[in-house]
Amino acid sequence: MLEYWNPLMERMPVEELEKMQERKLKNLVNYVYQHSEFYKKRFDDAGVRPEEIQTLDDLKKLPFTYKGDLRDTYPTGMFCVPNEQLVRFHVSSGTTGKPTVVGYTKSDIDGWTTSLARAMTSIGVGRGDIIQVGYGYGLFTGGLGAHYGAEEIGATVLPASSGNTERQIELMQDLNSSIIACTPSYFLFMNEVADKANISIEKDTNLRVGIFGAEPWSEEMRARIEQATGIKAYDIYGTSELSGPLFTECQFQDGIHIWADQFLIEVIDPETGEQLKEGERGELVITTLFKEALPLIRYRIGDITVINKQPCRCGRTHPRIMRVLGRADDMLIIRGINVFPGQIESVLMNIPEVGEHFMIVVDRVNELDVMKVQIEMTDEAFSDKVNDIIILEKKVSSALKSVLNITVKVELVESGTIPRSMGKAKRVTDNRKL
Ligand SMILES: [Zn+2]
Repeated sequence: MLEYWNPLMERMPVEELEKMQERKLKNLVNYVYQHSEFYKKRFDDAGVRPEEIQTLDDLKKLPFTYKGDLRDTYPTGMFCVPNEQLVRFHVSSGTTGKPTVVGYTKSDIDGWTTSLARAMTSIGVGRGDIIQVGYGYGLFTGGLGAHYGAEEIGATVLPASSGNTERQIELMQDLNSSIIACTPSYFLFMNEVADKANISIEKDTNLRVGIFGAEPWSEEMRARIEQATGIKAYDIYGTSELSGPLFTECQFQDGIHIWADQFLIEVIDPETGEQLKEGERGELVITTLFKEALPLIRYRIGDITVINKQPCRCGRTHPRIMRVLGRADDMLIIRGINVFPGQIESVLMNIPEVGEHFMIVVDRVNELDVMKVQIEMTDEAFSDKVNDIIILEKKVSSALKSVLNITVKVELVESGTIPRSMGKAKRVTDNRKL
């Protein structure tokens, strides 16, 4: 049976949704112009007056906002409310530069929670479920985001946070967790640890659904996870600048619904900034329609995707974005060719002998970029015959070449040598940057 958190809103006819978006966009533009020095200046510099924005089509007149703007105005220079109206801060880890700070009013937290309540309901999660939250709690948005969403729908939350993997499995068994929320790579690691203790996630636990995100992962990885553990694996999407984790696929696993009453999405050509048509691949740009503390106008999120506005089998009228291949930030340029780690994952996961853990190593040798992929063999395929190893390395290398169009050296390493991750997996070592 199909269930909705807010059936009226989730199935609202598209024309009505768009009218609502138009009204909210007009309010938003006036709001940020009045409340944020940053936006006032950005609009003035671009020569746009708030009253020029009357329809959704006028959106393209507005200037973009970038992650760099949040860093440049660190910590709270873009906020539209004074600090005493905030109920929470989250802060990014700043692994690729200065951290970004996001502030939330009570209403911002409510909007975030609503988004996740709808999403979790759309994958059949609700009252009676025990949700083990294995995302980190703290300044990172993953743990608390999933936590609030799960409580809102009346599920029982087990706030395990990340790490302490043996204990996670023990809790999963003793408290009958039915849902796990964590990064896909951490779940694979949990499965490996369970395996070693002779515990089968499929047979010895109640787990039926995984809500996996905070790192890009492929359709092929989904197939691996579902096959190995007997659960249904769903993609969750969001980013801290927008609130945190916000959206999931519905039960049909065919794109991620973006709530149109809360967010306005576009896909643009990353080079020219021109809007692309529905179905064309480009960079995702999001405008927040409900946020008070830190609204974002045409935010260049940096993910490459396709928008699908076709009606979904679940009955929801809100647009979907198709699986995100990779964040523009994660893209590697190897001898002038763009390579996403996600593409490499897809190729590897299609080869049955290759295990789920891998590492991409990029070096510069004699002024040329050289890419190497380290892989582990699955236990079933493990062989100590040197000949078999060479054959497998060649097989993987030629599969990668046919997709990426570059030569990749493949190195088979002993099982367990590639570092496991309890949060976001580190799949790339780029020695060119050292
Ligand atoms: Zn759907």
